[in-house]
Amino acid sequence: MDIASLTKVELHCHYDGIVDAPMLRALQAAGETFPVSPEELEAALPVRDFDAFLAWFEVADVGSVDLDPFVPVLRAHVDRLRSQNVQYAEVFTSIPRGDDVVGQMRKYVDRVRERERGETQIEFVMQMGRGGDPGRREAKVETAVALHGAGLVVGIAIAGAEQGLPIEPHTRAMRLAHDAGVPIEIHAGEWCGPESVWDALEYGYPSRIGHGVAILKDKALVRRFRDEQIHIEMCPSSNVATGSVERMSDHPIRRAFDMGLNVGVNTDDPGAFMCSMNSEYRLLVEEFGFTAEELDVLRRNALDARFQPTLRVPIDGTE
Ligand SMILES: [Zn+2]
Repeated sequence: MDIASLTKVELHCHYDGIVDAPMLRALQAAGETFPVSPEELEAALPVRDFDAFLAWFEVADVGSVDLDPFVPVLRAHVDRLRSQNVQYAEVFTSIPRGDDVVGQMRKYVDRVRERERGETQIEFVMQMGRGGDPGRREAKVETAVALHGAGLVVGIAIAGAEQGLPIEPHTRAMRLAHDAGVPIEIHAGEWCGPESVWDALEYGYPSRIGHGVAILKDKALVRRFRDEQIHIEMCPSSNVATGSVERMSDHPIRRAFDMGLNVGVNTDDPGAFMCSMNSEYRLLVEEFGFTAEELDVLRRNALDARFQPTLRVPIDGTE
């Protein structure tokens, strides 16, 4: 199977999990700067457990202050997506600090989108963690609503540590987003059991669940996902690298697909996990026997679950 030539859609990738040493070397050769060296990044690899994953982020996450360093990384990322025939991609991003968040965000988004070249549409989803004060969460959601209204983000993603951090205390903020028409993604069932997915469904108004590996442990939950066709963004390499799933053969993506659940495949953090959309596709073919037709069902599932209804580039199977 010629995997590179298959058209693809990716919904689950974090802006601060993309960079890798070859990309940095190419950027440096082109005169771009990034606050971390390729050698420092390489020294943090490979990621084989959760502690190593946190250590990788310690090195690569320079974005808590401002987004500027990530512009060249994201531009290079769009080039890579295009070379893999990824026609539509959403990237989870933090938002800039300081004044004029909308103006800063517009500059960031515009500079990245210059690389679309009419072939790969790139959209941003505002990411936030599960913890923190519910009042502050509501303020963040108000920012997300403003950015969504300005066409700069297409939704909200709740990511990060899951244990001991239920969605329930933040349900007012989540309802605020939902009522304002901002679509919601929640990472759930990655580090916790089915109860965490139930909590996300009950209090978070998600139209997509990230990871969701625990869903298959609960028959009632499987029924709910099958009946409502709630999209699950699965990330097999990520789950094995961080230890969320012990062995690749234990990963539920094939079983979920065969049960009629609505799943897609994603890289999550391609820099940390040394993966790509092409390598995830290869994994699905070699480890789980996916056919080209089945891979296209995954693509179609993701395309239909996207947060941006308006397409700017031609995408297979759309008008
Ligand atoms: Zn993620």
